[in-house]
Amino acid sequence: MRRAVGIDLGTSNSAVAVIDDDGRPRILTTPEGSTTLPSVVWFSNDGPKVGHAALRGFDESPDLTIFGAKRLLGRRFDHPEVRRLARVLPYELVAAPNGDTWIALNGGRTVAPEEVSALVLMELRAMADRFFGEAVVDAVITVPAWFDAAARQATKDAATIAGLNVRRLLSEPSAAALGYGAHRGDKRRYAVCDLGGGTFDVALVDVEDGVFEVLSTTGDAFLGGDDFDRVLVEHLARDVRRLRSYDISSDATAVDRLRVAAQRAKHALSSYEQTTIAVANLAELPSGKAIEYERNLSRQELESWTAPLLQRLIPPCQDALLRASRRRDQVDQVLLVGGMTRMMAVQETLAQVFGQLPTTVPNPDEVVAVGAALEVARLDGIIDGVLMIDVCARGIAVSIAGGACEPVIAMNAVLPTREYRALLTHADEQTRIEFDLWEGESIEPSQNRLLGRYATPELPRAAAGDVLVVLEVTIDSDGTIRLAASELISGERLMVEQLLHSGLARSEVVRLARNFNEGREILR
Ligand code: AMP
Repeated sequence: MRRAVGIDLGTSNSAVAVIDDDGRPRILTTPEGSTTLPSVVWFSNDGPKVGHAALRGFDESPDLTIFGAKRLLGRRFDHPEVRRLARVLPYELVAAPNGDTWIALNGGRTVAPEEVSALVLMELRAMADRFFGEAVVDAVITVPAWFDAAARQATKDAATIAGLNVRRLLSEPSAAALGYGAHRGDKRRYAVCDLGGGTFDVALVDVEDGVFEVLSTTGDAFLGGDDFDRVLVEHLARDVRRLRSYDISSDATAVDRLRVAAQRAKHALSSYEQTTIAVANLAELPSGKAIEYERNLSRQELESWTAPLLQRLIPPCQDALLRASRRRDQVDQVLLVGGMTRMMAVQETLAQVFGQLPTTVPNPDEVVAVGAALEVARLDGIIDGVLMIDVCARGIAVSIAGGACEPVIAMNAVLPTREYRALLTHADEQTRIEFDLWEGESIEPSQNRLLGRYATPELPRAAAGDVLVVLEVTIDSDGTIRLAASELISGERLMVEQLLHSGLARSEVVRLARNFNEGREILR
């Protein structure tokens, strides 16, 4: 059996788990002894640094320190969320030639988010290699349930570049429920609420006889622990200005020191009513004198300062219920996932929304990776009687020659699924049909996302409308789309040529993977 790992590739933190020889999942640690690895890459002068080693980059070169690359995977540069990110990120986003979002480093170099994620995956893989004492190749990687086809493909490409073979992409809420042990109980209807460093995801997941089904998924891509830290820093900075007559807003080092202290205080207040914030050397005055800062902070203050953020947890939960046509009393158990759910007020807010006490798992930032490792065990036949069912996050449609989009696969279709669509020639002697594949529900192409442009070349010559191509669209159990075509009368398989694509070209992924294998830096 090949060694395989379960990976939670998170927006702000990632984790990797394996199945021990005794069949139990085990979370691996970084060389620093942490069970989570910051999903951060610092493109320093001595090459890329990943994880904890990259954190110094926030201080030294914030424009070369890439965090949250997951938000950019599979996203077009003109997407409203990318436009919004471009305004707030300390690093620069640029449009790739095919309209994807890439990241600009200095000296005109660019990296795709896939490459950044690949570097994070390589570090996670190295943790597993060290644990097993041999190279790990296979992985189950988790993705948000709402990830579209482009984001899923981008995740797979990142894994390929990192030299990993993806056995399956697994949706995060299903992984969390599996990691929690939901497959062992009776029928239960779960709401999985995942508040991590950067995002809030809610999913309703039904588990019955070992079958996991995601019914609905919503969230807020701009709500996470980082926002709580930012609000704390804003209040503390005001305090510093009042007490020390010093404005830290243009002093990046001071802001960073305050952020570290604020985050530590936030963590402490999950266990204590009060804590002390003490920064011995916040900044230096022109006279050379150090500015010290110390104050007490209560849980009550933290909660009142962050109340507007806590309120934002409510609408996605209500929306998830609405989309699944469920009342809140039809949820049997609320599972809390993500480091931020350790905050009491987060638990209390979610308790109010669902009208019940939520379940806090003992390891909220590890449980998704543990679920992914258990999925590896399931695929290897070590765990029996469990089935992970995913639904198609968006519909898939086809259009010909700039025409309207015709739906092929409906949103929420249970995966795997396969549908057929007929394409007709419209001119005499026409030997190829070109078509576009879209993701979205609209008949209006501009409202959907273009996944790729394709052609079936080498059609038999005939009168217009006499050649009928049957296009077969398959979506695998993890959301990967595959196309095939055949000619109706002869039944012969036709070639499907890709003319335009979103994400990295196959050849580029292969080249980057080879570069990595040969130990070269993976920049284009
Ligand atoms: P994750 O992405 O799931 O690892 O969650 C990371 C977020 O959880 C960060 O914003 C952390 O500051 C936050 N976090 C971790 N531990 C605690 C804690 N004890 N109390 C409050 N927030 C925490």
